[in-house]
Amino acid sequence: MAERSLVELLEELIAIPSVNPDTTNDRSCSGELRIGEYVAAYLEARGFCIEWQDRETGRPNVIASFGPESAAARTLLLEAHLDTVGVDGMSRPPFKSVVENTRLYGRGACDDKGPMAAALHALRPPVLDALVSRGIRVVFVGAMGEEKGNIGAERLVERGFKADMALILEPTDLAIVHAHKGALWFEVEVRGRAGHGSDPARGVSAIAAMTEIIRFLGSETDEAAARTSNPVLGKPTLNIGSIHGGASVNIVPDRCVIEVDRRLLPEEDGSLLIEQTQAKLDQMKRVGQTTGHEIRIIKMGMPFHTASDSALVAGLSAACTACGLRPKTEGAAWYSDAGALSKVCPEIVVFGPGSIRQAHTVDEYIELEELERGSKILELFLGKI
Ligand SMILES: [Zn+2]
Repeated sequence: MAERSLVELLEELIAIPSVNPDTTNDRSCSGELRIGEYVAAYLEARGFCIEWQDRETGRPNVIASFGPESAAARTLLLEAHLDTVGVDGMSRPPFKSVVENTRLYGRGACDDKGPMAAALHALRPPVLDALVSRGIRVVFVGAMGEEKGNIGAERLVERGFKADMALILEPTDLAIVHAHKGALWFEVEVRGRAGHGSDPARGVSAIAAMTEIIRFLGSETDEAAARTSNPVLGKPTLNIGSIHGGASVNIVPDRCVIEVDRRLLPEEDGSLLIEQTQAKLDQMKRVGQTTGHEIRIIKMGMPFHTASDSALVAGLSAACTACGLRPKTEGAAWYSDAGALSKVCPEIVVFGPGSIRQAHTVDEYIELEELERGSKILELFLGKI
């Protein structure tokens, strides 16, 4: 492949549609295979060894490695997700980059093709030589399925992948995000017994039972907030995102379902909350407040917290300073692949050009100056880590 500029590289990435299939019905623009092939070819031309995970499914992870294989080598992971959200209602052509004034518009411009381009472009031969000379093996992973459940990162973990340090490329406005909360999403279903609304004592109201469960979850979160607080992330939170139950005003409802979004601090254990909720439901059934129940886990996303004085944060901070940017370290309220990968990597941060406020919008863009600066910071960081 001929050497291309950073902007050309981003334009080419945007021109390859890679909408997450769970966010669109249009098969012509969905799936991660084609963009995975592009990333693989780009890195193969720079001397990386390419492996695929689940290529035959059309929704692969591409895993590209460069550098020493020895046990003594340290592994640095750079990870960017290949998928984007859907393109309905976009104000400009989604797959044809448009540059207006200081910005480049297109689906994925900031989430996540801008940060991905910044990192790919930074992996130039002198940088790769510097990494090898310090005994560092660099692995670039283009991950599928981030936008709906972080599936690609989870599969990478299941494959037994491990790294000593990881940099997850996402639009953070060039802030070094060294912690985010976990996201525990689950559904609770309670069942009762239908009866006539004029004689509710003959039925068992699933809605009445659910109000008790909602109170239980609320006090559990209040107690956790009183007990735990994280200097970077603040307090744990609870959102009951949906509730469905009942058929008619004059019928005792026999079923009610809620969806729960509980954001966890690194100090918390999501499975303990599930056990406690299960125990509460069992007890309510024993005393006849329900006739049955079920908990379904939608997602158990791990929190992570890398120390702000770790080598990874220090290295990135120094690179920011060298590029004339005051380093900013912060925690984030949103969730990313860093949660899943923190299980197999002790030091992990999220970093990249572009703003999370522009991600998923109808006029997604990236500031070109920030894109260039992000790539320069990554190049300096990789040259020195
Ligand atoms: Zn993203």
